[in-house]
Amino acid sequence: FQAVMQEHLSQPCVSQDGQAVQLMLNADAGSVEQLMSQDGVSGVGLYRTEALFMASDRFPSEQQQRRHYHFMLEQAKGKPVVIRTLDVGGDKPLPYMPIREDNPFLGWRGIRLCLDHPELFIGQLRAMLSANADFDNLKILIPMVARLDEIHQCQRLMHQALAELVEELDRPLPIPQLGIMIEVPAALMQLPKWLEQVDFVSVGSNDLTQYILAVDRNNERVGQQFDSYHPAVVQALAQVADSCKNHSFSLCGELAGETQGALMLLALGYRELSMNGPSLGPIHYLVRNLDLLQLADLKQGLLDARDSHEVRQLLHNHLHQSG
Ligand code: PEP
Ligand code: MG
Repeated sequence: FQAVMQEHLSQPCVSQDGQAVQLMLNADAGSVEQLMSQDGVSGVGLYRTEALFMASDRFPSEQQQRRHYHFMLEQAKGKPVVIRTLDVGGDKPLPYMPIREDNPFLGWRGIRLCLDHPELFIGQLRAMLSANADFDNLKILIPMVARLDEIHQCQRLMHQALAELVEELDRPLPIPQLGIMIEVPAALMQLPKWLEQVDFVSVGSNDLTQYILAVDRNNERVGQQFDSYHPAVVQALAQVADSCKNHSFSLCGELAGETQGALMLLALGYRELSMNGPSLGPIHYLVRNLDLLQLADLKQGLLDARDSHEVRQLLHNHLHQSG
């Protein structure tokens, strides 16, 4: 089975009607070299840096971080690598930085924590920017953005880090693209006004679902209600695609790696999906067997659906009909 999937991935990911779909890998550490050498895999769409911070017993130094980022950028062999800045807090605690809060998911997490500790944040940015010096395939992604001034602060700090390094290393450095995650409803609503200020956006459907439905994604009592096929989430996903007509956008939540989820996203207009390694083969197979021009009716059906059962039924039927 693995061999068959690898064989598929060596082909470019193009639909029946000739549309290219970028399939990207969600990674946290370790080797990605084999997948990056496949024509059907377009790069790393989400490198979660928190794994590196959580595996350590103190904040990793700038040099340690640079080694990890360098390894990842090098393995991608010229394909883009989206490295996300530290996204701890919420469900991802750091053992050496305990945070006690009544509502951790509404608390000090992601970019909020980083902007309150600019010394940490600048260190991470410097590690990324210097690792990228000889590759120029880095894209930087900011998690949990909820306000425009957070974007501005990140831009300012990135340029400060760049200026420091250019001076210290006495050489020019590539300026990476800077993008934001759409995972807080406020960012979704403000997106049309923000688009001119960011280079790309990536939807975090795990958190976006959690915050739209007000369901803790890790709480077993309400776990059943965490549902990315809820019509409100479908509307939100469609809204991002419609807002981003002339901008680069992708999705990197779990939804992208599910067969029904990927079909839904393709119907809504997504052409860039980032997922865990084991999903790449099956989703590649799905895309190559779909005619994307034929998905307009499905899209309308999804937007009209009244509950997630109806959404899933439509997706199920479409998959069944197209074999
Ligand atoms: C998401 O929220 O969908 C996402 C990709 O980020 P994480 O799961 O790491 O919070
Ligand atoms: Mg998230």
